[in-house]
Amino acid sequence: MTDGRKSEWKRVVVKLSGEALMGGGQHGLDAPTLERIARDLASAAELDVEIAVVVGGGNFFRGIQGADKGIERARADSIGMLATVMNGLALEQAIEMQGRPARALSSVPMPSLCESYSRRAALHHLHKGRVVISAGGTGNPFFTTDTGAVLRAAELSADAVLKATQVDGVYTADPKRDPSATRYDVLTHDEAIAKNLAVMDTAAFALARENRIPVVVFSIQQGGAITATLRGVGRATRVVP
Ligand code: UDP
Repeated sequence: MTDGRKSEWKRVVVKLSGEALMGGGQHGLDAPTLERIARDLASAAELDVEIAVVVGGGNFFRGIQGADKGIERARADSIGMLATVMNGLALEQAIEMQGRPARALSSVPMPSLCESYSRRAALHHLHKGRVVISAGGTGNPFFTTDTGAVLRAAELSADAVLKATQVDGVYTADPKRDPSATRYDVLTHDEAIAKNLAVMDTAAFALARENRIPVVVFSIQQGGAITATLRGVGRATRVVP
């Protein structure tokens, strides 16, 4: 825990789903929401913490939806990865407009649009105080950006994955369906698996567990949520080894 003014972690990966960028809309990007999240990330970076963001693409396209419509799965996932790059480019500009340097790095090389992801490049930008945005997920089909987030956290030796969601933590049951559901403050990886609690997708969570990476689940609905989570003052569930 911290005194609430600083971050208790030195380096984190923030997982932002595409959905988080839609605001109240059903699709695409919502400019005020993008600005709010960019402002939050820029102030979070002031807390003396290195931040890598792994951005999803579900606000534009998810591979599974494409596969349901008859697009070959690997190809549909390529479209999904492109969607994450669209979000990454939008987020990069939005963060820079808040006065904080940012670099979008794509796991799928597209050098005329942005730098390609490499561990070395990401570490370089983090050391320079830039917010790194890892787009393109893992760069492979059949994965999600949740797995991308844990993978980046492992390879960048991040202290935690901060998973931004629509709810303020992990509950005993779905709080939207079951009003008696209660929220966990802290939970171990093993407990989450034993209790069948969906923290993130199974492959991603297995990687987090194996590499003993804490996952902090919090709600991105309110302004300043990332900063509050880093300062240890926000509502969140910590899933720890
Ligand atoms: N995707 C992929 N490989 C990855 C990450 C993502 O193929 O490593 C594709 C996949 O089709 C996925 C889409 O990109 O559905 C968007 O990512 P995700 O569903 O994780 O986005 P989110 O739900 O976080 O917005």
